[in-house]
Amino acid sequence: MTAARRPLVAGNWKMNPTSRSAAVDLALAVAAEAGDLPVELVVCPPAVFLEAVATALRDASASDAPRPAVGAQTMRAEESGAFTGEISPVMLRGLATHVILGHSERRRHDNETDEAVAAKVRSAIDHGLVPIAAIGERAEERRAGVTETVIDHQLRTAISRLERIEDSGLVIAYEPVWAIGTGDAATPDDAQAAAAQIRALLHEADPDGAHEVRILYGGSCGPENAADLFAMPDVDGALVGGASLDADSFNAIVRAAAESRG
Ligand code: PEP
Repeated sequence: MTAARRPLVAGNWKMNPTSRSAAVDLALAVAAEAGDLPVELVVCPPAVFLEAVATALRDASASDAPRPAVGAQTMRAEESGAFTGEISPVMLRGLATHVILGHSERRRHDNETDEAVAAKVRSAIDHGLVPIAAIGERAEERRAGVTETVIDHQLRTAISRLERIEDSGLVIAYEPVWAIGTGDAATPDDAQAAAAQIRALLHEADPDGAHEVRILYGGSCGPENAADLFAMPDVDGALVGGASLDADSFNAIVRAAAESRG
């Protein structure tokens, strides 16, 4: 990881935990150990717990900006309207500063398309949210040898509505779908190869902005492999699923990110 980019470690809690008090406890446990490390930390609880978590973290923090920061797991691009069950960027104001977009579970279970992700990335930036746009190939695509093609298409589409990347806050999470929740993480070299491809595509789109984009790795990242992944020059942190539900494991990953800055 390059020293100029502040590492980012985000915890995607998915549909866990199932009670408001457990969500608040987890967030406070992460906060208690977070310390003053030079890492941007984000927890992404289920939407119904965003307010409780954001409030608890704000109350526990010395400043108005909660640490860790709070992210949503998805949102709709539109500000309001007939979208049953959805959340708009306007509703996230004051609750979340980041938002995960295009997670493979949303693509698979909720038909989130590349085009929808592009609209959401644009909308998040327009509404002052940091988009963490997730891309990555499925197992059968990897087997077919089309990983690079998939990354190329998903990334180009995700950024297609942006005039420029510089100062947008854009974060990309490379998450090979076959690695998510399986314990079978990508090797550091494979993660670097994908991150380098992503950086090169971003450079093509905006030569001035590509170097500032944090590129995260996601997919069975844990305390045991985080340091090796973060040693890669284009891997600037992680989007963490399972290991983010345990404050000790999550904070071990955060410490690895801090140490990788050297
Ligand atoms: C994820 O869902 O974004 C993820 C990376 O999950 P896990 O860490 O459990 O593989």
